[in-house]
Amino acid sequence: MSKKRVFSGTRATGRLHLGNYLGAVKGYLELSNNPEYETIYMVMDLHAITTPFDRKKLALNTKDVIMDYLACGLDPEKSIITAQSLISEHTFLTYLFSSEISVARMQHLPTFKDKVKQYPEHVTMALLNYPVLMAADILIYKASLVPVGIDQEPHLEIAREIARKMNEKYGMDFPEPVRFATKGEYIPSLTGEGKMSKSVEGSYINLVDDLKTIKEKLASAPTDSGRGDRVPTEGGVSNLLKFVELFEGGKRRKEYEQNYINGGIKYSELKEELAEAIFKELKPIQEKRKEIEAKPGYIEKVIEEGAEKARKIARETLKETKEAMGLI
Ligand code: ADP
Repeated sequence: MSKKRVFSGTRATGRLHLGNYLGAVKGYLELSNNPEYETIYMVMDLHAITTPFDRKKLALNTKDVIMDYLACGLDPEKSIITAQSLISEHTFLTYLFSSEISVARMQHLPTFKDKVKQYPEHVTMALLNYPVLMAADILIYKASLVPVGIDQEPHLEIAREIARKMNEKYGMDFPEPVRFATKGEYIPSLTGEGKMSKSVEGSYINLVDDLKTIKEKLASAPTDSGRGDRVPTEGGVSNLLKFVELFEGGKRRKEYEQNYINGGIKYSELKEELAEAIFKELKPIQEKRKEIEAKPGYIEKVIEEGAEKARKIARETLKETKEAMGLI
């Protein structure tokens, strides 16, 4: 293998939001433009069924995320782009890997506990196995670099543990994958609490949102009186300043911070300016998406061709692993 491999994906639970874009897709893009890497990006539809889902929407959601990937600038000529469930080898390898990790280890993961709290009626075997499937997604391509947000770090640790075990016990040569971090590795929620997430209403701005929607969403973000001795380091105001830094630069953030201490911030003006800056970055993505939507059959072709290329690599690794584990 000459080039280093990169693998990542986003769950097929609807369109991408700013957290996915800044924390993950910007990293996908950067690495896909670096000739040192072979990049593989998927829509994780098998991961989407670990929480409640609508079977009538699943395929559409998958295509929607692929469309967002392409609209953000990912190029099927440079990266393998497809849907996870089309490569059945991922699930086979998951099963083999699940023989190497204990139930207790999975049950103690903070991400598992969070989901149990969120969906107490939907604590399935698939949910418990989420990180093992993620390890198989990455290791089936022997990928060593994974552009994901900081929230995924506990899952990457599991992937490294499994890689180590498989190498020690069965003489495999899996790399221990590490996270590729972007400047937006943690995008906060607009609600002022926790991270921006598809599953928390009111927390996100979608890549397809128009200026009016962005303004409305920012308008409901919590603030304070706009002045004080110290600039808040957490909560709504701190989050807004983080968005200012990401979309308008560190200099603008500093100016607001000085205003906060010296005279006061008018949040209506800050939010107006911020909405314009966010929309400026999203507009070209939205225009590109419209172009792609107008090409019938294009998305299906990208997905099928990507799956074809991915299968070739996945088949090899699965064969090697089965042999190493002594299966017939
Ligand atoms: P969500 O949490 O919205 O359901 P996913 O779990 O599908 O999103 O995550 C897809 C990618 O986007 C992952 O790499 C994840 O780390 C990244 N990501 C999601 N939310 C954020 C966020 N708020 N900040 C930074 N990265 C994020």
